[in-house]
Amino acid sequence: MQKLLENWRKLFENKEEKSKKLFAFDFDNTLVRTDGQVLHKSSDLRLNPEQWERLKLLNPDISEDDFDFSEFKTVVNPKPIKKTLNLMIKTIKKLSGDDKIVILTAREVWRPIKSYLQEEFDVDIEIVAVNSPKYSHLDGKGPERKASWVKKQLSEGFSNVFFWDDMVENLHAVKSLEIEHPGVSIKAFLVKNGAERCFDRLEEIEKFQQMVKNKHSRMKKRLIKHGNQPNVPPYSKKPSFKRSKSAPP
Ligand SMILES: [Mg+2]
Repeated sequence: MQKLLENWRKLFENKEEKSKKLFAFDFDNTLVRTDGQVLHKSSDLRLNPEQWERLKLLNPDISEDDFDFSEFKTVVNPKPIKKTLNLMIKTIKKLSGDDKIVILTAREVWRPIKSYLQEEFDVDIEIVAVNSPKYSHLDGKGPERKASWVKKQLSEGFSNVFFWDDMVENLHAVKSLEIEHPGVSIKAFLVKNGAERCFDRLEEIEKFQQMVKNKHSRMKKRLIKHGNQPNVPPYSKKPSFKRSKSAPP
């Protein structure tokens, strides 16, 4: 009996050893706030990253060619979010052999983030810019793209994932990977106003999403209902402020 228990213990410890950890931090509004905005080319409309992500989610057919992203090719007037940034730096220092830490960003350009963190904080970290040509093999758009990269890491043996982001849709997409990957644990942290909140279960995120959904039409009006322009052809109808069917829950 003693021997049997001993074997079980060894097996268990072995399993623990093999469980590789992945730490992924979003950049904009998770680690650092910047003044960078997305510019609508034909109007004066300027959107911060969160507003832009939401607009895209609510209107999946929107053409990115109509917008200018040049302010995200650099780090404009950065203001660190101390709590998460310190946590990231501490995690880098404590990282053990097989574990991995990255910045997982929807930005197309990674180099300015890398230089900023190196120059300001002496931090050297891999930047995964899921919308850059290097990651063109990833599936999906928006939140699905971040999830698609994390999914690839699961297939490479990472079974403990810790993910910080300021967009609940991104947390939902990544946390959902647990459903098709039994044995994998994903902890999702929502970063808002300099504080973090951990979602242990998918239902918790879904409840939170429902709250966001309830605020949807107000948000959409704020983003796209500007002025009281007359409806001239080809825009003969007022736009709908309902949530589009293809928008995530
Ligand atoms: Mg963000």
